[in-house]
Amino acid sequence: MTNNEDKLKKIISHAKEYGFVFQSSEIYDGLSAVYDYAQNGVELKKNIRNHWWKAMVQMNENIVGIDSAIFMHPTIWKASGHVDAFNDPLIDNKDSKKRYRADVLVEDYLAKIEAKINKEVEKAEKRYGDSFNKEEFLNTNQRVLANKEKMAEISARLYGSLEKNDLDDVKALIEELEIACPLSGSKNWTEVKQFNLMFATQMGSTAEGASEIYLRPETAQGIFVNYLNVQKTGRMKIPFGIAQTGKAFRNEIVARQFIFRMREFEQMEMQFFVRPGEEMKWYDYWKAERMVWHLSLGMSAENYRFHDHEKLAHYANAAADIEFNFPMGFKELEGIHSRTDFDLKAHEKYTGKKLRYFDPELNESYVPYVIETSIGLDRMFLALFSAAYNEETLEDGSERVVLNLPAVLAPYKAAILPLMKKDGLPEKAREIMAELQEDFMCQYEEKDAIGKRYRRQDAIGTPFCITIDHDSIADNTVTIRDRDTMKQERVSIKDLREIIAKKIRNKA
Ligand code: ATP
Repeated sequence: MTNNEDKLKKIISHAKEYGFVFQSSEIYDGLSAVYDYAQNGVELKKNIRNHWWKAMVQMNENIVGIDSAIFMHPTIWKASGHVDAFNDPLIDNKDSKKRYRADVLVEDYLAKIEAKINKEVEKAEKRYGDSFNKEEFLNTNQRVLANKEKMAEISARLYGSLEKNDLDDVKALIEELEIACPLSGSKNWTEVKQFNLMFATQMGSTAEGASEIYLRPETAQGIFVNYLNVQKTGRMKIPFGIAQTGKAFRNEIVARQFIFRMREFEQMEMQFFVRPGEEMKWYDYWKAERMVWHLSLGMSAENYRFHDHEKLAHYANAAADIEFNFPMGFKELEGIHSRTDFDLKAHEKYTGKKLRYFDPELNESYVPYVIETSIGLDRMFLALFSAAYNEETLEDGSERVVLNLPAVLAPYKAAILPLMKKDGLPEKAREIMAELQEDFMCQYEEKDAIGKRYRRQDAIGTPFCITIDHDSIADNTVTIRDRDTMKQERVSIKDLREIIAKKIRNKA
């Protein structure tokens, strides 16, 4: 087993053991690619959502939020292009009967070449030591250059063929590269077919009267169809944004890697409406802004990178991903897309209604262009959870597992721990609990030795443990223990609220 697989397995089992994420319908042997958030997971997820909302809506006067319904008029998905083009190319292996995304098979092949390049770099780094110049090496080493060229050729062919919907050529490429089924090693493939990812259901009570509707595959369309209502009732002036968080559904062909790719997931999206012609300025602005948001959470900057799209979706004229170094390697966490006026124009066409904005400065009406930022809440959860998960060997040789989550996102901010279950310590601890839980999620625990209780709190990422001992009764002080440094400070009970609030702000 590779280290990466090992790390993902550890994360999945930690998420279950400590009440973050459970498999859906577990007692019925589960439902593929659907997950439930448990008592600690729901807090972390809610905190991530609130943190995003604060950065997007609360901190930007020109961005407002909405919460549109999951069910929408079915023609919306015709207008948006999802009925005709929201497809993934699928391919089956005839021997193993396993189904794959044809493009992902080729992308995994590309990732292997990239891994070879990285190995060359590592080797050279060891050989040359301090005098090693990575940039120069990447641009001059013959083996690296040959591999880079090979990668460029393969991606150009893959994305070119997908663009032209030349599925026979995608299959030919898989055969030429001799890509085998990762499970069986067989190269016996079916044709490549397009598969629509939308879930359909019936609305209405009788079969004859019922109409087919879709579970939304993205939250964005709920924003587009409400854009004019919001603009008018909110008296919004361009440029302005509309944000929304909510469930989206995709019948993913291959759903694996835990909560990275699910069939029911949550998105946090913001559509920013701008003047036609100014979209590239705002595209660059939001690309930079979103990266700043990620970095502000304090996870190492090396975990993030941009990936500019070569294959653009049917609605976009520029697109980039913010990729994160997940346990399975660098993968898309967030997308920033310049969606042009594609969606609003399409809704004008299908409804016959004008979706224009009158720009008082230019004295003209136009259909705005749109920049979208779209991040998966569950993927953000996985990114944070995996980067925060650490196994440490302490000075005394003992081991601890700690979630170094940003304090602002941690499920519980403080644990209130009476040292013993007697001498009035629980009563004093309860008073502190009652005081602090008005402002912070707190957990009260009096069972087991204090060391064990600290470990349990470390494992769920609680940044502060407050311990009540005999001195607390005498002089109204407690110790406050920092999760990351494990250092303890003695502080006055009356200052606790301010100390915790300040530490949360500092670590945000
Ligand atoms: P991918 O290429 O990984 O399928 P995508 O490019 O289709 O993703 P978008 O349509 O841009 O994704 O959706 C925006 C965001 O929604 C993604 O960056 C991702 O974080 C999240 N997302 C998309 N599909 C899923 C899924 N099946 N499960 C969890 N999150 C998802």
